[in-house]
Amino acid sequence: MIKVLVWCENIQNKTQEDVKAAYPEEMHNTIAEFLRADPNISVSTATLDSPDFGVTDEILANTDVVLWWGHVGHGQVPDEVVEKLYNAVVKKGMGIICLHSAHFSKIFKRLMGTSCGLAIPKPAFAQEKLWTLLPGHPIAAGIPNPVDIEMEEAYNEFFDIPQPDELVFNAAFANCGSFRAGAAYHRGRGKVFYFQPGHETYPIYRQKEIQDIIFNAVYWANNKTRGQ
Ligand code: ZN
Repeated sequence: MIKVLVWCENIQNKTQEDVKAAYPEEMHNTIAEFLRADPNISVSTATLDSPDFGVTDEILANTDVVLWWGHVGHGQVPDEVVEKLYNAVVKKGMGIICLHSAHFSKIFKRLMGTSCGLAIPKPAFAQEKLWTLLPGHPIAAGIPNPVDIEMEEAYNEFFDIPQPDELVFNAAFANCGSFRAGAAYHRGRGKVFYFQPGHETYPIYRQKEIQDIIFNAVYWANNKTRGQ
């Protein structure tokens, strides 16, 4: 059993109509729900509002892989929480998957050691093609090439991350540049995967191919292979 914690800040889901429309059941529940379809995965959820921000020593001792989605609330996550997550990854081998705007989360920046800044083009929203660069990588297993995403927020280079250990996906946005969209790292005993799709106003986490990539990443981050 892989024990997954889905952590989403859950701020815009309470106040923004376009986010509520994309994720009426709130994004962490959407992600948890599709993961629960896999009998090999047990799922819990947490948000910024959870007691102790949903990240305690006890919770982390019972977590193999964390999915982290944040955007407007990065600064509200205390540094002590970030250190707990960092130590769980580096010292205990917990996996972490940082989704979309979590490129700028404190934990991702701490794990990368760079600014993790990126460029947003104009227009900022476009059709995306997600191209597989490493077909033999476990996170790309069974994923069509390319994956078409109807509409997404376009992120552009330069993305200030360290050279990825494995660059699995690259995004091309219609008339809006390109971006290293799926970057895998090893940090100490743990694994880190950054995955770009998932802007809050588009229901991208309902898309089958995106769900399959996240499944693959969960298994990879826990040193397992899906379907075995
Ligand atoms: Zn976004």
